Amino acid sequence: MVELKNVSVTYSSGVDALNNVSLKINDGDFAFVVGSSGAGKSTMIKLLLKEIDATSGVVTVNGYNLNKLKKRKIPEFRRTLGFVFQDFRLIPSMTVYENIAFVLRVIDAPIKYIRKRVPYVISLVGLHAKTNSYPDELSGGEKQRVAIARALVNDPQLIIADEPTGNIDPELSYEIVELLKGINDQGTTILMVTHEHDLVRHFGGRIINITEGEIVFDEVIAGTGDEL
Ligand code: ADP
Ligand code: ADP
Repeated sequence: MVELKNVSVTYSSGVDALNNVSLKINDGDFAFVVGSSGAGKSTMIKLLLKEIDATSGVVTVNGYNLNKLKKRKIPEFRRTLGFVFQDFRLIPSMTVYENIAFVLRVIDAPIKYIRKRVPYVISLVGLHAKTNSYPDELSGGEKQRVAIARALVNDPQLIIADEPTGNIDPELSYEIVELLKGINDQGTTILMVTHEHDLVRHFGGRIINITEGEIVFDEVIAGTGDEL
């Protein structure tokens, strides 16, 4: 669960990036976060990852009160999250398999588990045939599938996707959201930041609009299913 209670963030420059924001995202939810450039979306994500702290208010993510979270507990907390970046951030010298297995190796997961879990998440994202390919050999959509598999491999409670379709073709954007929806159906909470209105209208669901640091809209809407 993600909960922001009366959260404000003021940068040292004096900019109020978030202004008294309250928000609750329950386990198993799928929510789109929309808003124009400069609205405060990245600031909210940085708060949820504990890259920055709230100036006031309370931030709780996956049972961790981030205001009180000790520095040495941050890695343990971050392992409850998966993160998908707009620019994929795959390691170019590693194959698809190695990029994903790496996440489990750094936490010393048992080799037997890695050998089972990695092929499983690769098949979940439909990339079995690319298991031994390098990122350079993949399309944008395929790279993002690898990134999603990597976010998923540690079985996180919550996946935060920051403009995951920002660098891929519109037709493939649709598939990426379908994939995230499928993962959500298995119980993983998903928060997807996007400014692609067509995509949001097509799928519908919970839409949270941040404008000038405030939540101006937070409702569930029906998807149109329109062609993109
Ligand atoms: P979005 O992700 O919606 O584009 P941001 O959260 O990046 O919005 O920015 C919200 C506001 O905070 C903007 O006015 C932006 O210029 C400002 N801002 C963002 N990061 C910083 C920073 N590190 N220092 C000062 N101001 C910042
Ligand atoms: P098992 O190892 O018991 O055969 P699986 O290989 O099916 O189980 O799954 C391994 C782990 O992956 C389990 O913890 C399961 O909860 C998790 N899992 C299965 N499907 C998904 C999914 N779509 N998204 C996230 N985690 C999943």
